[in-house]
Amino acid sequence: MLAFLLPMLAQDWSTHYERSNFVETGRYAEAVDYCRRLARASRNARVVEYGRSPEGRPMIALLMSSSGEFDAERMRRSKKPLVFIENGIHSGEIEGKDASLILARDMLITGKRSDLLRGVNVVMVPVFGLDAHERFGPYHRINQNGPREMGWRANAQNLNLNRDFIKADAGEMRAQLSLIQRYRPDFFFDNHTTDGADHQYTLMLGLPWGPGLPSATAQWQRNLYESVKRSCDAAGFLTAPYFGMVDRGDPSKGITIDDFGPRFSNGYLSVLGRPSMLVETHVLKPYRPRVEATYEVMVQTIRRCIDQATELKALNAAADRGLTEGEQVVLSSRLTEQRDPILFKAWEYTPYQSEVSGAMVAKWKHTPIDVPTWIRQTFAPNLTVKAPAAYVVPSPWAEVIDRLSLHGIRFRRLSREVRGTFDSFAFSDVSFPRQSFEGRFQPSYKVAPIAEPRVLPAGSVVVPVDQPNAELLVHLLEPEGPDSLVRWGFFNAIFERKEYAEDYALEPVAKEMLARDPKLRAEFEERLKDPTFAASPAARLSFLYDRSLWADNRLNKYPVVRLTEQQLKSL
Ligand SMILES: [Zn+2]
Repeated sequence: MLAFLLPMLAQDWSTHYERSNFVETGRYAEAVDYCRRLARASRNARVVEYGRSPEGRPMIALLMSSSGEFDAERMRRSKKPLVFIENGIHSGEIEGKDASLILARDMLITGKRSDLLRGVNVVMVPVFGLDAHERFGPYHRINQNGPREMGWRANAQNLNLNRDFIKADAGEMRAQLSLIQRYRPDFFFDNHTTDGADHQYTLMLGLPWGPGLPSATAQWQRNLYESVKRSCDAAGFLTAPYFGMVDRGDPSKGITIDDFGPRFSNGYLSVLGRPSMLVETHVLKPYRPRVEATYEVMVQTIRRCIDQATELKALNAAADRGLTEGEQVVLSSRLTEQRDPILFKAWEYTPYQSEVSGAMVAKWKHTPIDVPTWIRQTFAPNLTVKAPAAYVVPSPWAEVIDRLSLHGIRFRRLSREVRGTFDSFAFSDVSFPRQSFEGRFQPSYKVAPIAEPRVLPAGSVVVPVDQPNAELLVHLLEPEGPDSLVRWGFFNAIFERKEYAEDYALEPVAKEMLARDPKLRAEFEERLKDPTFAASPAARLSFLYDRSLWADNRLNKYPVVRLTEQQLKSL
């Protein structure tokens, strides 16, 4: 009878992880099936398929809202914060998925977390690296203490999704960027497991609070960290900032944190002006406390988002106001020298001599010691640029224009060719590494501003900075930025010389140039004092070719131009 009246509760809602006595994680299809069952059982949930993975699997998200309203625009405009939960970007680090399925059940079915359901809207991606998740096996993370089998770190194209937010080469990323732009979350979780030295902490939390974020949002993040740390510590999960150690055997030498750039999840959300949290449970703790700690930190954080909903919504609305010409944008930051005291919860360090490598091997005994030490956790701007009023990306650079669209950046196309003198950049000292990084060859170079005549073909895109994703736009298109599209190799062909002069053709031209231009002759003679240069006929000719009318005036020049407000208005 009860089963008839309460079919929802009568179903078995246990997850694979729970049925395995907390030592296994299920397969991707089980997570999809569980989400679909939740959505069938509750009018407060819906499953959306937002794409297909490179191997053809459905990419799904579970939406949760007590209003039963799942239209993206309405969810975005709701007074309730919209929280995005991303799991399994590194699919072997999978406690986020198991914690999220239980959290969803507790919000939707058992009522244990119905307070959270009433206060927020949620977009939960059970596994982002889903193809990688299905490369399933026991030998994928040698450092990690469970689950029994797990997915792989990189996707089927061997790309690390957590380096792909800017370049968006992975099919999974292309789909998820659209999802993020559609829902524009107020808060973003990215759930991981971290390697590194052993210590008492189960949870490490990376909350961006560097100068790339609006200062009020950065302060909100700092307060969030303090509050969540207190609650998680009290719940039995010792919590620290996501740190690196100066010396892994000796915490008294200090610890530091990083400010992540926009190739990473949390850095990407920062350039959108959004607060976010990188949840990193410690790899040597058993799977169950890692899942439980992930559950706890999500509950505590969502609770705070609910308590501060009005403030959080206002901070995010302010971040969407866009930029005006001349406004400073921070492209990278650096740690300041400030050292704050911290009592580090260490284990006793007991390294031993290796018979294999001959070196000392790290080892810890689980005897707790509190080590007074310091943490560097304050950032200052490192590289800043002034925003133009707009950029123009010439139409042939279709891959770049495609990325602007993926990132939700608004632009219009020139209906006719435009000629004029524009600000742009010239590159020098260009070199390439021998090894690719994330599938791309990243050039190194120096950049100098130039102003010169350009022809912008019809169909080129005009991208103004007075739009919500303006800071992201500046990161993408300012070549000096560490995550600019130039750095990621989207413009590599501009560094290739395509036309050459035979010596017999150049000789008379060079001779005449030297005869006609005493300044050039002086410069040439100065160069001849360098014996390597003087001994190379090719270098000598090339010096003059580069200064001749025959030289390629587009070589090593940035095709994108910056517009002033006045130029923008005249287009
Ligand atoms: Zn990770």
